[in-house]
Amino acid sequence: MLFYSTNLNANQVPFPEALLKGQAPDRGLYLPKEIPRLSPQEISSFATREYHRIACEVMWKYLEGQIPYEKLAELTRDAYNFAVPLEKVVDRRYVIRLDQGPTASFKDFAARMMGRLMQFYLQKEDRRLLILTATSGDTGSAIAHAFLGLDRIKVLVLFPEKEVTTRQRKQMTTLGRNVRITALDGKFDDCQALVKQAFADPDLDFLGLSSANSINIGRLIPQTVYYFYAYSRLAAKGEKITFSVPSGNFGDMMGGVLAMKMGLPVEKFVIAVNENDEFPVYLKTGEYNKIEPSRNCISSAMNVGHPSNLARLIALYGGIMDEKGMIHRQADLALMNRECWSTSVTDDQTRQTIREAWEQYNLLLEPHGSVGWTGLQAYLATLDPIKKANALCVSLETAHPAKFPEEIKRLLGFDPALPPSLEGIEQKEEKYDHLETEYQAFKSFLLQNYNS
Ligand SMILES: *Cc1c(COP(=O)(O)O)cnc(C)c1O
Repeated sequence: MLFYSTNLNANQVPFPEALLKGQAPDRGLYLPKEIPRLSPQEISSFATREYHRIACEVMWKYLEGQIPYEKLAELTRDAYNFAVPLEKVVDRRYVIRLDQGPTASFKDFAARMMGRLMQFYLQKEDRRLLILTATSGDTGSAIAHAFLGLDRIKVLVLFPEKEVTTRQRKQMTTLGRNVRITALDGKFDDCQALVKQAFADPDLDFLGLSSANSINIGRLIPQTVYYFYAYSRLAAKGEKITFSVPSGNFGDMMGGVLAMKMGLPVEKFVIAVNENDEFPVYLKTGEYNKIEPSRNCISSAMNVGHPSNLARLIALYGGIMDEKGMIHRQADLALMNRECWSTSVTDDQTRQTIREAWEQYNLLLEPHGSVGWTGLQAYLATLDPIKKANALCVSLETAHPAKFPEEIKRLLGFDPALPPSLEGIEQKEEKYDHLETEYQAFKSFLLQNYNS
């Protein structure tokens, strides 16, 4: 199986190369040339399988010939050693909690698998990598945890000291080993700019820099699996299901759309965004305008004014969008509107839903999951009553409520209990560096610390 670039100006490459490169040389995003299919029999066989076994079967469709099956089975077993709860809310409506991994966010699903696959291919090719990543909070800790203790890979995370919460910082700075964390005085965009400049600097080529960010195809493929999993646990044979996905960079929902194109019977994808509404506007009008700067909402991981995975979605519907957000060929909007429905949710609605879900259903949501649940209710309100009552729906909860203690306390009056993965973190010793927000200082730091 080969992977092509959405900008259509780069060589097609096999999976290991797409994984280790991250972005294609023409700045496009890698997608499989042909989307593999799962038969209805294969999908229904998942009903009795554990999560990690489903992950192995689904990913094998992309990796056959690129890794021994037993090795993939071992990596998936090792990566998915935590629960994936499906919570019934009311009628046939469920919430899937993707928050039981080591950093209590859904990013663990992708990052843990990507780390293990990278490790496998680096070993095979006797290479090493330095993962350089900028974070505004959650990505850095998911990446740092996913790569912790893997040999051949070092991780350096840059974060804006004033823009992350204490809990977010401690999730990164208490790890040590092959993970190094550096605080900058500036904003997230400054961190991102330094990382980009380092990637473009030929003096640093020898470091084997890689970004591990959300555009890596190695993060996307693992995100197809929980859609199959949810379906296997809830749907009658051949029945269609609706998913609601709280979305920022669209990696999560792209996993879902890929799963559908692989054969999963999906009625609708509800793509729920916060006040950054560039996508629902595009879906309605066909006109795309990014939002710069992005709008700040309480679902902070979704404050994205130009989703980096949108080029992939447009490619799957026959269009071409470049990395700047220019559309060179329009997607099949009629088909996209049949399969996807999108809405923008304000902060006020997000808060109101957190209150109402708790009062009505004892359903505890944090801001991102609340955007998803609110989006689902808005979609259901467009259906006729019979269809609405029978619709099988799953809304994705992408982070643990305990990661947002202030907001939950203010709205619901209590402190959500910490998941086991976050317990004890307050007491652990922190270690991190400080750097000036200036490229030469950053470059010297890289040369001094990684020059061996
Ligand atoms: C990253 C993130 C999202 C958005 O996911 P995308 O793949 O960027 O759309 C939603 N919720 C949480 C908690 C996140 O960390």
